Amino acid sequence: MSSRATPIPVTLIPGDGIGPEVVTAARRIIEATGAPITWDEHQAGAEVFKQGLPSGVPEDTIASISGTRVALKGPLETPVGFGEKSANVTLRKLFETYANVRPVRELPGVTTPYSGRGIDLVVVRENVEDLYAGIEYMQTPGVAQALKLISEKGCEKIARFAFAYAASEGRTSVACATKANIMKFSEGTLKRVFERVAPDYPDTEAWHVIVDNCAHQLVKRPEQFDVIVTTNMNGDILSDLTSALVGGLGFAPSANIGNEVAIFEAVHGSAPKYAGKNVINPTAMILSGVLMLRYLGLFEQAAAIEHAVFVTLEAGVLTGDVVGYDKGVSTTDYTEAIISNLGKQTTTWTIREVTPLKLPELSSDPDYVRPASRAVVGLDVFVESPLSAAELGASLMELTRDTRLSLVMISSRGTKVFPPTGAMTETGDHFRCRFIIRENPGDLPDEDVHQVLARISRDHRWMHIEKLQEFDGELGFTRDQGEN
Ligand code: NAP
Repeated sequence: MSSRATPIPVTLIPGDGIGPEVVTAARRIIEATGAPITWDEHQAGAEVFKQGLPSGVPEDTIASISGTRVALKGPLETPVGFGEKSANVTLRKLFETYANVRPVRELPGVTTPYSGRGIDLVVVRENVEDLYAGIEYMQTPGVAQALKLISEKGCEKIARFAFAYAASEGRTSVACATKANIMKFSEGTLKRVFERVAPDYPDTEAWHVIVDNCAHQLVKRPEQFDVIVTTNMNGDILSDLTSALVGGLGFAPSANIGNEVAIFEAVHGSAPKYAGKNVINPTAMILSGVLMLRYLGLFEQAAAIEHAVFVTLEAGVLTGDVVGYDKGVSTTDYTEAIISNLGKQTTTWTIREVTPLKLPELSSDPDYVRPASRAVVGLDVFVESPLSAAELGASLMELTRDTRLSLVMISSRGTKVFPPTGAMTETGDHFRCRFIIRENPGDLPDEDVHQVLARISRDHRWMHIEKLQEFDGELGFTRDQGEN
């Protein structure tokens, strides 16, 4: 059945918990199609963490993926007390696999409240930016901060990727799901860029949906969606929801795709309570293998596996997650059934015609956005203080009286509390104090910033600053609730 004679090396990572069982199932089925693949097996995850490697990903595994450029991996755990970063996230970031593709579709024999409605959709999740960068700080002993970094280039890559992916699968609609109504800069960048690039794909319907409504619509009328492109955390949550629509995590495959490397894995984790019991559903990993075969151009083998999975499910061969663990077939019997059905074709379910994916090509210029003009127009200084907002305000005004910056506002968790608004906002020990250039606005030199910070330090503890910038005359910072 092979359509390519030269063997293709693929890195194989068995993973933790149920990982080795599902990876073995996928590997055996792929081999049974005659796909010309040679496996290069390497480790990552729990055992590696326990051996003292804080990343959970050994050098030889990184070297293998750098060479093969393609990996099929089982789920990885970060054991409590070892390492603080997920090995999964490390792999995604190390190889800049910026697009996480999570398709779900209605499956024969898997009855859900949505059966018969023809769910067949893909969540395209941005995979390397957003809150998943995991940049976090305790700003005061009682107030935490997480940085949500979203870049214009990252948004353009994922938006264009979503359109390209849609085209490769003959899909005709891409919805962009964001929280741009609240986070105008971070989430708003994806919305803005999506709307800017959409006209380049005139054959595809492009629309925006606020992410909370997207969740609502997915539960109410999921069949209206084709491709959903979204930011990292939104995509994480929405794609677990979409997997539940078609029968659960046992049926949800995924691909992490970058310009150089692609890593294929099930959406689910290591489900430790089922590990070693030969009961879990390997379909998610098997379908991840299908995505991998298509990525490698092995379309014939990919379609053969998809047909065999459908034929098996149509015949009522189902694992315990679908029919109850007292009635389900074992993982290995399910795998055998699929292997024995290779070569058979489903006549009741359609298999999509897929053409090679054309990845977007973007400039590698580090200055991706070049404004014609820019200026620092003020400073936000974050201060830890036991004082009331009024006392802190009076003190800061006095301390900075003869500097270039003037205190215009103090906020508590984003709501203005000084000058007083008459509202009932609760305050703690964490304040954001906004200073704007007093007169002759222009670019604020760092000496003026240093002077203000030195003055504040005389009586207060500051822990964080943000320069208030303007690019091409547009404010590069948000106003606070209650700030005019
Ligand atoms: P999980 O492993 O995905 O399991 C959650 C539940 O989903 C299971 O208890 C089970 O539901 C169901 N499930 C998952 N995979 C299944 C399968 N193949 N067949 C049938 N049912 C399946 O999530 P978790 O318990 O939150 O996470 C466990 C560990 O995995 C954590 O260490 C986490 O960090 C890690 N993880 C890794 C990845 C990854 O490597 N990409 C992803 C997610 C989580 P029931 O209990 O209802 O039977």
